[in-house]
Amino acid sequence: MMKTAYFYGGKDIRIVEEVIPVAGPGEVLFKVMSAGVCGSDLHNYRGYRVREDVPWQQGHELSGVIAGLGEGVKGLKIGERVGVEAEHLLGCGECRLCRDDQYHLCADRGMRHGVRQASHGFSQYDVCVAENVTVLPDDVSFDAAALVDCYACGVHAMNRVPDLAGQSVAIIGAGAIALTLGQVLKANGASQVILIGTREQSVELAIAAGSADIGGVSADVDVVEAVLAGTGGEGVAVTFETVGGQSQLIQQAVEMTRRGGTISVLGLFTKPQTVDPAMAMEREIAIQWSNSFSSWNGEREFATALELLKAGQLNPEPIVTHHYGLEDIEEAFAVADDKRSSGAVRVMVVPHG
Ligand SMILES: [Zn+2]
Ligand SMILES: [Zn+2]
Repeated sequence: MMKTAYFYGGKDIRIVEEVIPVAGPGEVLFKVMSAGVCGSDLHNYRGYRVREDVPWQQGHELSGVIAGLGEGVKGLKIGERVGVEAEHLLGCGECRLCRDDQYHLCADRGMRHGVRQASHGFSQYDVCVAENVTVLPDDVSFDAAALVDCYACGVHAMNRVPDLAGQSVAIIGAGAIALTLGQVLKANGASQVILIGTREQSVELAIAAGSADIGGVSADVDVVEAVLAGTGGEGVAVTFETVGGQSQLIQQAVEMTRRGGTISVLGLFTKPQTVDPAMAMEREIAIQWSNSFSSWNGEREFATALELLKAGQLNPEPIVTHHYGLEDIEEAFAVADDKRSSGAVRVMVVPHG
């Protein structure tokens, strides 16, 4: 038997005992060793998004140890430490976008054989398709591997914008997506990362973690002025928006981006945005949406992110601020939900701690 968390909507999370799942053909069973509480998990928790398929399981930023192999799985062994690409990103495998390896854009994303697919990181065991498993070198921790989901979102956003070598960029937000993104951009040649947060503590952590060169706290400074001041009045080549939710931030991004520049939106907004189209038009600002990740030029972006990690070009440790056992998942979510008082960036649930 194993323990797993079921989500009933809002703050109603229940730990249930159930039978350990079995790896079907082409699948891998793994013991979950670390699973991050993502901002998208909090959308349901905060009641911004209501799901009808109650109750559900979640936890898509995860890593573990192989505990069972389904029929036909080759090249993997029980006991190997693995990073796991999230199952809700699986495409149907058949449509034009899936054939082009752009499975994150599949209209049936997260569905296979008529069944909704999702990773269950808030669970002692989970099963996934073998192609979503990557063996970890010994020096990549389970927490770092669980963060690869965030790093891969950053790799995808970076792949979509113009070359950043020698460029100044801005990041709006100071959560895990912002901090992992900043490290990816620095590793790929961005000369200056200016990070805007709402709390001094997280902005300082971003700089200490090597995710940003300079930072601004929106309560203390005019953040547009701060970005312009950091770029000789011109604005940055690319502004990455990572907050989303109920905030209004795309117009601010337009104002801090240089003429002819790009905005990359990674934050999932749950409200319409007000943008001054005349200003965006005059400056010919490109607004891009960056949704999760899949592959780029034939390489899976999850693998690209893991390669950067293995090469020592990323610094995951300071981003993971809290750990909780599965039994304490309610506290883990409460701490992740109230970052202002907890100081949390990424909270990890450790089901086998
Ligand atoms: Zn996530
Ligand atoms: Zn498809």
